[in-house]
Amino acid sequence: MKTVEHFDFKGRKALIRVDFNVPLDKSTFAVTDDTRMRAAIPTIKKILNDGGSVILMSHLGRPKEGPEEKYSLKHVIGRLSELLGREVKFANDCIGAEAVEKAAALQPGEVLLLENLRFYKEEEKGDPVFAEKLSKLGELYVNDAFGTAHRAHASTAVIAQFFPGGKCFGFVMSGELSSVQKVLNGAAKPFAAVMGGAKVSDKILILEQLIKKADHIIIGGGMAFTFIKAQGGKIGKSLVEDERLGTALGILAEAQKRGVKIHLPVDAIAAEAFDNSAATRTCASNEIPDGWMGLDIGPRTEQLYKEVIAQSKTILWNGPMGVFEMSNFEHGTKTIALACAEATKNGAYTLIGGGDSVAAINKYKLAEQVSYVSTGGGALLEYIESGTLPGIEAVEK
Ligand code: AMP
Repeated sequence: MKTVEHFDFKGRKALIRVDFNVPLDKSTFAVTDDTRMRAAIPTIKKILNDGGSVILMSHLGRPKEGPEEKYSLKHVIGRLSELLGREVKFANDCIGAEAVEKAAALQPGEVLLLENLRFYKEEEKGDPVFAEKLSKLGELYVNDAFGTAHRAHASTAVIAQFFPGGKCFGFVMSGELSSVQKVLNGAAKPFAAVMGGAKVSDKILILEQLIKKADHIIIGGGMAFTFIKAQGGKIGKSLVEDERLGTALGILAEAQKRGVKIHLPVDAIAAEAFDNSAATRTCASNEIPDGWMGLDIGPRTEQLYKEVIAQSKTILWNGPMGVFEMSNFEHGTKTIALACAEATKNGAYTLIGGGDSVAAINKYKLAEQVSYVSTGGGALLEYIESGTLPGIEAVEK
């Protein structure tokens, strides 16, 4: 894997695809969470410290028809300049005369940020003419946007072909890739994958891959009830995908064939309504009364899952065990988060990734106590499903 460490950027202009798709305050446009910006700083600093200059390109939000004030990347200039401790220049258009002139005039140690790439439809279409125009702005291409690496967009993948001698990954990308590769290809055994969240249908491809790699698959969240119903359990009005009952049975059969242990909840916290103030009761996960719904794993399940996690040397966690957004149904998810932190302390490698499990680990302030928290939800899951991503292939070609 070629990274920025393999290049000396002295006197050279690096065009970096970063992920500055950060949330902004609706009225002031101030950056409300700069996590993604902070993640990109080491890559930028490495290049500047070498004596190179940096041209940054990113998308922000989902603009529909060309430029929109609320999606302008000029709103991040102030925060970026604070993080870098230097001035950040800005081009009001990511291509065209202004961008070309400002990029050409850039001196070693200087930083230029381009306006939102998605103000052009060509970006998401992966248009090669647009990609080539962008490519002319820099001499070396660096992809450091893991969050969009699963998209074959102009700036994330198509552009790489215009840098035959000089393209590489930044530290965000290399960190993400080595972490997921460690789990998928070099996992210390036993390897437990903890899968939760709402739907089986979102996780089928991942489950199919994980069955080939993991020793234990722990299932929680709404998706567990499709498995429980498929096995003949009574699940009341819990979340279920009736059209996936066969798929669930197929996954269970395949796991058994491969000697992979699938753990399903044995008990559940059931509620009368999808509401934090609804009446609750603890019941067997396959005996949920009519009119009740399982919204969290129960205490016996928590205990069993904790034990599997404690005995594992590698843990991948994706998806909450229950409706953790509501305080009465967050206990299972919090228990898993704490179990991952504890396992990490005892030497296990723990990767937390994909949407809501990241939100959960942050909610319980445990992000620093696990081995790696992935910044790219969709990208991580697609990498697990397919073993590569368009943004990775393009740089490695
Ligand atoms: P996902 O995006 O598929 O990982 O799903 C995350 C969502 O699943 C969260 O918003 C949870 O509230 C929800 N969820 C987890 N467990 C359950 C459950 N037992 N019933 C309904 N929704 C759930």
